[in-house]
Amino acid sequence: MTFLARFLIIFTALLLLGRWLLKKLFGTASSSSGEPARKSSRPKSIQGQTFKDPQCGMYVASSLAVSQRVGEEEYHFCSASCRDEFLAE
Ligand SMILES: [Zn+2]
Repeated sequence: MTFLARFLIIFTALLLLGRWLLKKLFGTASSSSGEPARKSSRPKSIQGQTFKDPQCGMYVASSLAVSQRVGEEEYHFCSASCRDEFLAE
């Protein structure tokens, strides 16, 4: 029983120490000016998948894209006018 009690005390002490260390390491790291490289500027971060409009070259979120199947391939456009221009060519 004494062994178990000692084990529990050491275990909780290590747990608290580990939590304190994590807080100290990451808490100070985030508050300092040197923030790690942001990846939010990528077009993929809009929402899920993005497609490149073959007509105008802009990236469109899959939820907003105008899809058109041409033969075996499916194309995604930013607007219906882009799709019409692409199909007219
Ligand atoms: Zn377009």
